[in-house]
Amino acid sequence: MKIVKNILTKNDCYKAGRTIAVKGLMIHSVGCNQPSASAFLKNWNRSGVEACVHAFIDGNSGTVYQTLPWNHRGWHGGGSSNNTHIGVEMCEPSQIKYTGGASFTCSDKAAARKVAERTYKSAVELFAYLCKQYKLNPITQICSHHEGYLKGIATNHGDPEHLWKGLGMSYTMDGFRKDVKAAMGGSTSADTSDTSTYTVKKGDTLTAIAKKYDTTVDELVKLNNIKDKNKITVGQKLKVKNSTGASNPEKIAEDGTWGPDTTRRAQEVFGTVADGIVSNQMQADRKYLGACHSSSWDFDSTYTGGSSLIYEIQAWVGANQDGTAGKETIKKLQTKLKSLGLYDGAVDGSCGTGTVKGFQKWLNKQK
Ligand SMILES: [Zn+2]
Repeated sequence: MKIVKNILTKNDCYKAGRTIAVKGLMIHSVGCNQPSASAFLKNWNRSGVEACVHAFIDGNSGTVYQTLPWNHRGWHGGGSSNNTHIGVEMCEPSQIKYTGGASFTCSDKAAARKVAERTYKSAVELFAYLCKQYKLNPITQICSHHEGYLKGIATNHGDPEHLWKGLGMSYTMDGFRKDVKAAMGGSTSADTSDTSTYTVKKGDTLTAIAKKYDTTVDELVKLNNIKDKNKITVGQKLKVKNSTGASNPEKIAEDGTWGPDTTRRAQEVFGTVADGIVSNQMQADRKYLGACHSSSWDFDSTYTGGSSLIYEIQAWVGANQDGTAGKETIKKLQTKLKSLGLYDGAVDGSCGTGTVKGFQKWLNKQK
């Protein structure tokens, strides 16, 4: 799944600047025959639209365009769902033609179904990602706009079930929730990520290996289906669970340089994609980011939506959320670190060694 950040900063909803504690996810479809997300990105990025969602899923590519920070209060469901739910719109096929309400005719069902299938699949991946990020239960905390109406938390719309039904597809909301749950399981796969392989050496005993990995003989026997726990052979490969020490990440260096390690740890702490890169920062702000290393910071000359990590940091320090770290954001960060006793330098908006050191100290306290 590809997520492109395209925040609608000129939309009145964005300007209202309210945030929510995310309690659920609501799936929509746009209700007009427009497969291209860019059409909405253009039309909605202005004053007077009186609607705004958190993302659009493009019908031609399946790309997700994020249009509001995830914890921003959107105007998508009407009713109280706006106070609790992230709203995501799937674009609809160009082959359909609305004939009134939720009814439509379709000139090419096969082609239209392909579009609906593409947006469905991206929505599953996106919702799996959001459920993980906000610790939501996919079975109980996902609904459609239509289901929101039935629950009394949204306006009277039929989306997106009307589209699937009208195209004769077997998709349902129950199926969608199950698919999201499956997608979450797929990428967490604790079984593979939490174990490693140990090769038995001369003189090893299960007791010694268990001690080394902070586990018990019984645990090793169970994990490896060992028949006789007194018999292990040199060269035998054993699955071992990573000890708590090993799965808890080591502390990052408090060296005052913001490189990939600091970014990755911050991404883990703030729950954004942990790739070690602060993307889409402004070249013009480079001068305020002296201790931020170019191996981890990605700069552009124009605004392309900022970084998810910076959005989260801005929410944490109480700065205006645009996803790019500039003088104001750094000032707020310095103030925050100062209030926590982790920084004693000037609140000057310049991210130097002292500021980064304070941030690294804070990160090391979070895990
Ligand atoms: Zn809707």
